[in-house]
Amino acid sequence: METLWMKINPDEIYEAQQEILQAGEIVKNGGLVGFPTETVYGLGGDALSAESSKKIYAAKGRPSDNPLIVHICQMDALGRIVKEIPPKASMLAKKFWPGPLTMIFQKSEAVPYETTGGLDTVAVRFPNHPVALAFIKAAGGYVAAPSANTSGRPSPTIGEHVYEDLNGRIDALLDSGSVGIGLESTIVDMTGEVPMLLRPGYVTYEMLVEVLGEVSMDTTMMHKAEGVRPKAPGMMYRHYAPKGELTIVSGESENVISYINRQIVQKKAEGRSVGVMGTSQMMSRYEACNHKDIGDKDNEEEIAHNLYDVLRAFDSDGTEYIYSESFDTSGIGQAIMNRLLKAAGHRMIEV
Ligand code: AMP
Ligand code: MG
Repeated sequence: METLWMKINPDEIYEAQQEILQAGEIVKNGGLVGFPTETVYGLGGDALSAESSKKIYAAKGRPSDNPLIVHICQMDALGRIVKEIPPKASMLAKKFWPGPLTMIFQKSEAVPYETTGGLDTVAVRFPNHPVALAFIKAAGGYVAAPSANTSGRPSPTIGEHVYEDLNGRIDALLDSGSVGIGLESTIVDMTGEVPMLLRPGYVTYEMLVEVLGEVSMDTTMMHKAEGVRPKAPGMMYRHYAPKGELTIVSGESENVISYINRQIVQKKAEGRSVGVMGTSQMMSRYEACNHKDIGDKDNEEEIAHNLYDVLRAFDSDGTEYIYSESFDTSGIGQAIMNRLLKAAGHRMIEV
C-alpha cells in the first residue's frame, strides 16, 4: 500500500478542503488515515465499523484488547454512541470540550466491540484542532483512533513520526506539522459514582477537581502495576519506550548531576553510547555525551511538548543508555512523569 502524504497548513484549512474530503472518503470506504490533533497524531478509521477497527489494530501491531478512543466533532454526536450522559460528564464537556480530555461512558449498540476492545464502555473525545475537526466531519462524524505510532513506540508529535512508523500500513496521512501539546489526552472514567482519572494529561487532576469536587485516581497510574490491572487497558502495556535503556534519576540537583556524570564516564569507558535527557538549566553541567535538552525546568508545557520527540531522537541516534532528570508531579508534571516512568519501565533511582 502506498501511503498518500498530504501536507496541510492548519491555519489555512479552507485551501485543503479537497485533501480533507478525500481523507474522509477513505475512512468512509473502510480505510485508515493518520491525522493531527492538539495532543498527538491519531490513526483514524470508522469507529462504527468492526472491520475498520480490526484494521487499526493490525496497522499498529496493537493488542486487540486495548480499546480505541472515538473522536467526534460536535457535542450532538455523543448521544448516538453512549447509553447515557451522566451530569458530571456534561459538566466536564462544558468546561474542556473541545479539548484534550477523553471520557469513558457505557457504550450504545452503535459501537462495535472491536472498537472498545470487547468492553461495554467506550472512550470518547472531542478534539480541538481544525484539521481533526474537518476530517472527522468528512469521515462521517465518528473516527476511532489510537495514537498513530507502532505499538510500543513513543506517540507521534510530527507528521514525519507517523510516516516513519506507518508508511505502507495506512492509506493516507494528513500532516500539519508539530502538534501543540505533545502528550496524549487525559482519560477520566465517568461510569462510576465518583469519576476516576485513568491517565493524566494536559487537563490536570487539579483542574478536574475544581469542576467536580471529588475525583479518584487509578492506583496504577504512577506506580508499577503489580497484580493490579489498570482500568485503562492500554496503561498496562510497556509503552512509549525508547530502544535504549532509560533510567530516571531523582533527587537534589547536585546529586543528580554527579550521579549521572559518574554513569556517563563509566558507560563510555565500557565503550557504550550514553545520553542525557535534561532541562536547559542543567545541560552545561553534564560530561560530554549525547545531551538532549528537553526544555526549561520551569516550563512544564515545553517539557511535555518535547518529551516524545527527544525519546525518538535517542532511538535514531542508537543511544544505548539514557539518563533522565525527574520532574515534579503536580499539574502537567503528573502526565510527564506518568509517561516517563512507562518509558523507563519504572526504572527510577533516588540519589
Ligand atoms: P491511545 O489513543 O493510543 O492513547 O490509546 C487509547 C487509550 O485509551 C488506551 O490507554 C486505552 O486503554 C484507553 N481506553 C480506551 N477505551 C477505554 C475504555 N472503554 N475504558 C478504559 N480505557 C479505555
Ligand atoms: Mg497510544
